[in-house]
Amino acid sequence: MKSDIRDLMHSAHQGDWAPLLQQAEKTPRRNWADSAQCVGEDPDSFVLTTDDMGQNPEYVRRIEGETALRALRICDSCPLSVAARCLTESLRNDERFGIRAGLLAAERSKLRQAWVRRIDLDAVSAVLGGERQRLSKYERRAVIARVADDRALDPGAAARGLGISRDYLLQLARAHRKKQGAKAPVSN
Ligand code: SF4
Repeated sequence: MKSDIRDLMHSAHQGDWAPLLQQAEKTPRRNWADSAQCVGEDPDSFVLTTDDMGQNPEYVRRIEGETALRALRICDSCPLSVAARCLTESLRNDERFGIRAGLLAAERSKLRQAWVRRIDLDAVSAVLGGERQRLSKYERRAVIARVADDRALDPGAAARGLGISRDYLLQLARAHRKKQGAKAPVSN
C-alpha cells in the first residue's frame, strides 16, 4: 500500500486530486473505518507525542522509533481504498495530529495546505446552479469570480447555492470586478 498511497499523494501535489478521491470512493464513506487494519488497536498508538505538522518527519521517526514503526506497519497492510478514505477524511476534518494512511502528521503538512487551496470545479458548478454545497474560501471566491466575469450566469441561483442574498452576491461580484480592474495594466 505504501508506494501506492504515495503515488496518489504525488498526483494530488501536482494538482490532480482525482486519483486519490476516486480511490477513496471505492470505500463508501459510511462506516468506512469498519474495514480498517487498525480496528481494535489503541488509537493513542497512532498519535505520537512529537508528531505535528510543523515537525521534521525524520526527527519524529528517530525519536518515536519502534512506536512509530509499529503503527506505520499496520497502515501499510491496510487496503488501499481504506487508506485513501482515511487520508481524505483526515483532510476534510482538518486533522493535524496522528498517523493516517501510513503518513505521519509531519508528512501530511504540505498536502493539507494543497487541500485547503484546492478548488473542486464540480462543487463550484453545482453552487452556480443553485445547489447548496460546503465550499472552501477559495471555492467561494471562484463562484464570485465566475458571477463577476460571466453575465450570462444567474446570480440568483449562485446566491442560493452560497446561502447568501442575491444583492449581497452582486455587491461581492462588483467588488471583485473593481479589484480586477485595479490590477489590470494601464493601456495606452
Ligand atoms: S490507513 Fe492506517 S490509520 Fe488509516 S484506517 Fe488504515 S490502518 Fe487505520
